[in-house]
Amino acid sequence: MSNRTFTIVKPDSVANGNAGKIIARIEAEGFRILAGRMTRLSQAQARGFYAVHAERPFYNDLVAYMTSGPVWVMALERDNAVPHLRAVMGATNPAQAEPGTIRALYGESIERNAIHGSDSNENATIEIAFFFSSGELV
Ligand code: ATP
Ligand code: MG
Repeated sequence: MSNRTFTIVKPDSVANGNAGKIIARIEAEGFRILAGRMTRLSQAQARGFYAVHAERPFYNDLVAYMTSGPVWVMALERDNAVPHLRAVMGATNPAQAEPGTIRALYGESIERNAIHGSDSNENATIEIAFFFSSGELV
């Protein structure tokens, strides 16, 4: 079934000049980009987006990193969109990510790990709505 997911090409990827390669890989994997833009997350956006991690010891560092520079936010569509993107991303820690995955190729550390992808259909819907109005999904 064709469905949707949400991605952030994270600040390290943009800073390192890897955003284009990552977006090309996303397209090569058969995702259709429904909406996308470059933006810089505010403190409030980053805190809200990762609110589920608010009690974790790495939360403040994560917010500082996610607000450190521009990112690409995108709504994506494909069959099995959520699990497929998670597979293409690889494990959270790039050192443990399968060879050839985006995090294995471009991630620098467990924090600076190149890309975000929604972890469920429910969160994909919430995360797309966090950044895009329905009229922007083309
Ligand atoms: P994301 O939600 O960004 O797609 P994920 O689902 O693989 O990543 P989460 O457990 O949701 O991993 O963690 C969110 C983000 O917080 C990670 O992508 C990473 O940037 C950062 N992070 C996770 N664990 C750690 C850690 N132990 N130390 C530092 N940063 C971490
Ligand atoms: Mg996550």
